[in-house]
Amino acid sequence: MEAFFASMGEKSFRATQVMKWIHQLWVDDFDAMTNLSKTLRQRLAEVAEIRGPTAIHAQISADGTRKWLLELPCGNRVETVFIPEERRNTLCVSSQVGCALDCTFCSTAQQGFNRNLSSAEIVGQVWFANKEVGEQQRVSNVVLMGMGEPLLNFNNVVMASNVMMDDFAYGLSKRRVTLSTAGVIPALERLAQVSDVSLALSLHAPNDDLRNQLVPLNRKYPIAPLLKACSDYIGQGRRKVTVEYVMLDGVNDRPEHARELARLMRNFPAKINLIPFNPFPETRYRRSSAQAIAAFGEYLVGKGLIVTTRRTRGDDIDAACGQLVGKVDDRSRRTERNAAAMAG
Ligand code: SAH
Repeated sequence: MEAFFASMGEKSFRATQVMKWIHQLWVDDFDAMTNLSKTLRQRLAEVAEIRGPTAIHAQISADGTRKWLLELPCGNRVETVFIPEERRNTLCVSSQVGCALDCTFCSTAQQGFNRNLSSAEIVGQVWFANKEVGEQQRVSNVVLMGMGEPLLNFNNVVMASNVMMDDFAYGLSKRRVTLSTAGVIPALERLAQVSDVSLALSLHAPNDDLRNQLVPLNRKYPIAPLLKACSDYIGQGRRKVTVEYVMLDGVNDRPEHARELARLMRNFPAKINLIPFNPFPETRYRRSSAQAIAAFGEYLVGKGLIVTTRRTRGDDIDAACGQLVGKVDDRSRRTERNAAAMAG
């Protein structure tokens, strides 16, 4: 932004002024930026544009969760979910149109992949949600847990999360911006060099055989080196990796899986987050019973691990984890492959 103003022959502090107007007051009209001269406002309107996303559909769940379907200029659509809680308001942000990974328990996967979101399209979701919910409910936490694999859209995700953490923009601390990944090891190593967002890992299985089935990316980046890359990212401090574990009835929720997971996590800086599976049409999986989830969690706690169970939010409007679908013009031919597989 400073470079932009420099190119206009303006002082660099104009950058912070405009950043605040856009990201703290959610203004999208240069004319409203009253601490800029009239002439500068006019010049800006000639050379630049502030364009937020447009929502073509908005839904509010009985529990207050809100979901927006945002339309992109290319005609594709992605979803953003706002989750109000007592002490925080979390926004779940998408990073790609669809997803190129093929996790078997996720509905985004079934839609295939179209393209990366730009950094503006990613941070625009935070801008848009703040504008919609207003000052009282200002977004306090962002999780990159919507559609897409953030580490496969590396540069744009890093740029967008830097804006989320910038004092002149959203000013969120690094503890309040969390990037969730299925585990792209080389990108994790690069991330350590350029960012300090909080990390969540979609583990979902305690051994490679099972994880290969659930998260096919595991065949390329298996568990042992993946956990090493995550703890290297976190470093020596007190921070922890959120380890996401979706609870699938009879698949990964048995006592033997809990035992194996406890062993795997013994020397790993984890907070384990159990996620009750959220069903979607044509899925072959079922959610683990409440008893199975409780027993699984209690076993891990007994082994000295930190465990939370994610409360399912917004499932009445298909806004829960793994239920985001948007509208994706698939370019990976996955939908065709899936249809062929179903047919025979
Ligand atoms: N690709 C990244 C970001 C998506 S995060 C990642 O894999 O981490 C979305 C989270 O919801 C992930 O932990 C994902 O595994 C989980 N999830 C996907 N489908 C789900 C479903 N049907 N029910 C519950 N959780 C699901």
